[in-house]
Amino acid sequence: MATFDKADVEKLVDGVLPWTAVQEMMKSPKDLDRFDQYVEILQGRVDWDERILLPLTPALFIVAKNGSRVVKCRCGHEFGDYRVNWKLSALINVRDDEASLAEVYKGRELPDPSWVQVREYICPGCGSMLEVEAVPRGCPPDFDFLPDLDTFYDEWLGRPLPDKCEYRDLTPDLILEWSG
Ligand SMILES: [Zn+2]
Repeated sequence: MATFDKADVEKLVDGVLPWTAVQEMMKSPKDLDRFDQYVEILQGRVDWDERILLPLTPALFIVAKNGSRVVKCRCGHEFGDYRVNWKLSALINVRDDEASLAEVYKGRELPDPSWVQVREYICPGCGSMLEVEAVPRGCPPDFDFLPDLDTFYDEWLGRPLPDKCEYRDLTPDLILEWSG
């Protein structure tokens, strides 16, 4: 059985692992410490100390902070409790007319602006574009990923997190607060 070390995983993260090795990695049983190696690499690349519990994207992480679990950008900007869709706290550029959509879609690829909006979610801290979604007008921001962290750490990794946290989408609560 092939095993891969941290240097291989680091190359994978950077997209420079040769394709043959990537294929080999995909076909092999996962090394038990693969997740830890991955998180260790990401943790070593940020300037802050909060422990990364789970990466959401290459730039966005769920971290442990003072007994809570918050979404944090690699630049350090925090979006709050991870159970609220972080997109609600991002800067949002909306493309919903022909001129702005034509900057990203060419010719017949151009969607009908009366139906489609493209939303670009941008970090207020560093200006990175963190996510893009093309959705029907009026559609709420897509909540890409709400992981059950306690189940993941407890049942998959076999080492429960020190604190427990109710697993629930809190996004509607915040919207209710805004509308109240
Ligand atoms: Zn940022």
